[in-house]
Amino acid sequence: MSVLAVMEQRGGAWNRMSFETLAAAQQLAGELNTTASAAVLGEAVDPLASELASNQLEKVYAIEHPLLKDYTPDGYSIALRQLIDQVKPALAIFPHTYQVRDFLPMIATALGAVAVSDVVSHRVENGAVVLVRQLFQGKVNVDVRFSGPAPHFASLQAGAYRADQLRAGSAPVEKFAPQLSAGDIRTKPLDLFRESQRAVDLSAADIIVSVGRGIKEAENIPIVQRLADALGAELAASRPICDAGWLPMERQVGSSGQTVAPKMYMAVGISGAIQHLVGMKGSRVVVAINKDANAPIFEIADYGIVGDLFQIVPELVEAIQNSK
Ligand SMILES: Cc1cc2nc3c(=O)[nH]c(=O)nc-3n(C[C@H](O)[C@H](O)[C@H](O)COP(=O)(O)OP(=O)(O)OC[C@H]3O[C@@H](n4cnc5c(N)ncnc54)[C@H](O)[C@@H]3O)c2cc1C
Repeated sequence: MSVLAVMEQRGGAWNRMSFETLAAAQQLAGELNTTASAAVLGEAVDPLASELASNQLEKVYAIEHPLLKDYTPDGYSIALRQLIDQVKPALAIFPHTYQVRDFLPMIATALGAVAVSDVVSHRVENGAVVLVRQLFQGKVNVDVRFSGPAPHFASLQAGAYRADQLRAGSAPVEKFAPQLSAGDIRTKPLDLFRESQRAVDLSAADIIVSVGRGIKEAENIPIVQRLADALGAELAASRPICDAGWLPMERQVGSSGQTVAPKMYMAVGISGAIQHLVGMKGSRVVVAINKDANAPIFEIADYGIVGDLFQIVPELVEAIQNSK
């Protein structure tokens, strides 16, 4: 009864969120006094499995089959169900990727189990896992406890666990050949959807000024644009600003936008929801301007200004221009 981390790869390249899941599996196994293992699926996943084997894990499962070359929900869910039947993990965890959202419910439903999606943290109470997930766009955190027999399933939100906390070690690789036939696969994979080239690469910016709903109206965006110009910064935004079309989508920072790590990130009128934080918490210095002293952004800010952005930002612009 262990924790199984199911990794995601495409064409031999990892989805980086997988390593957050792997770190979470190690952490959970330690707290539950059990072991962690990992699984990777594909046509020929030897090099990937060997890479995983250098982590502190009980075992690495290399699930290989020619029909797993391209992702299909049928192929992945059938193969994983067969592995889970054999390994019998107490908990199988996955990165909360688009692919996982597609096939994890199939596995859970087929096994009469529940999959808890988009988990942001956990704790262990009396030897049982309590998962935390968010409702109402991050306004409310709820605790989720499993009932019924294992296995239990969960997917983990991007940035909720830290891949840099992975513990190195040495694990044996075990090959697993699922029973799959072409008739099991009801969909035919076509070419992958490719996003058009981004005009703005926020990840290359040294300074980012990011604007949130505190700006109130599209007409007010030039107020923060002037601050960005004065600092030689790129302008970015939280999701509601891009959803409203006040700035283009490519300027959105967060779990469904870009991940950035500039030398300085200025969050102007941004509350600091987890989906925003995961996209910018790697910034070297975070400056927050917010009229609410209790806004979560101040928990990760190095410098905080509590006040009205409509007063503070123009004064800052003036001070920066005077100092040049
Ligand atoms: C699946 C999913 C994916 C998501 N992906 C993303 C994502 O990629 N990026 C993202 O940003 N969000 C994302 N979100 C949304 C996220 O949960 C928050 O709703 C969003 O980040 C909030 O944006 P905000 O901080 O601009 O607005 P709010 O939360 O409304 O905060 C506005 C802030 O402005 C402050 N303020 C108001 N007036 C002033 C003033 N005059 N002066 C100074 N401060 C003022 C307020 O105190 C408040 O803290 C996602 C949500 C979901 C469910």
